[in-house]
Amino acid sequence: MIQFQRVNKHYGDFHVLKDINLTIQKGEVVVIIGPSGSGKSTLLRCINRLETITDGLLEVNGIEINSKNTDINDLRKNIGMVFQHFYLYPHKTVLQNIMLAPMKVLGKSEEEAKKTALYYLEKVGIPDKANSFPSQLSGGQQQRVAIARGLAMGPEIMLFDEPTSALDPEMIGEVLDVMKALAREGMSMVVVTHEMGFAREVADRVIFIDKGQILEDADPNEFFSAPKEERAKLFLSRIF
Ligand code: ADP
Ligand code: MG
Repeated sequence: MIQFQRVNKHYGDFHVLKDINLTIQKGEVVVIIGPSGSGKSTLLRCINRLETITDGLLEVNGIEINSKNTDINDLRKNIGMVFQHFYLYPHKTVLQNIMLAPMKVLGKSEEEAKKTALYYLEKVGIPDKANSFPSQLSGGQQQRVAIARGLAMGPEIMLFDEPTSALDPEMIGEVLDVMKALAREGMSMVVVTHEMGFAREVADRVIFIDKGQILEDADPNEFFSAPKEERAKLFLSRIF
């Protein structure tokens, strides 16, 4: 579903992604971990072309995403993204926030968009917040709205960039629970997170990245019990 072949990316002179080879199958849940500044967000953002790669090949569903012929809007319809900060529109209700892209980008009718929005709000466990404004919600609830907003586009792939890092500790669990349920339903997911419990429980694979290089691509049990790389050992010893 997603394939990186010898992908490199530079920001000016800075070589941020180095020879990335990575294949993600349909239905897989892949967790990316690594120190701050190692290139995790950049890697994720290349997948929906929020960043462009410098060289190499990057395909999503068999389509070369940096080719001139690729319709970037078509590509993004298929890829949902959830960020650390939720980026909800403050002056729109929860429902309106979720309905916006399906109407504007997919051309859904208001009625249809509303039905879809309510369905996903139910799924993330806050159907009663449909008419609230983001400021009336807790951080955890806002992040669940952001997830519902992504799902309402009907993507085949969901990308998560540290979705719980900005949350108070007591709200992390409710967001992870929504993500776990999504994983169990077979959604293809790439998740950057420091939540090692989540990685152990739901990841099919753990990717450890440091200084722009993939140093490990392993089964979570293997990775957590016996990381092969010294830098991964050091990283784990610091966060546990
Ligand atoms: P991570 O998500 O692992 O913390 P990032 O992918 O955000 O890492 O960043 C990797 C490196 O690239 C960092 O050193 C960061 O400062 C740098 N970087 C990120 N975005 C840009 C940018 N737009 N321009 C220049 N450098 C950037
Ligand atoms: Mg990041």
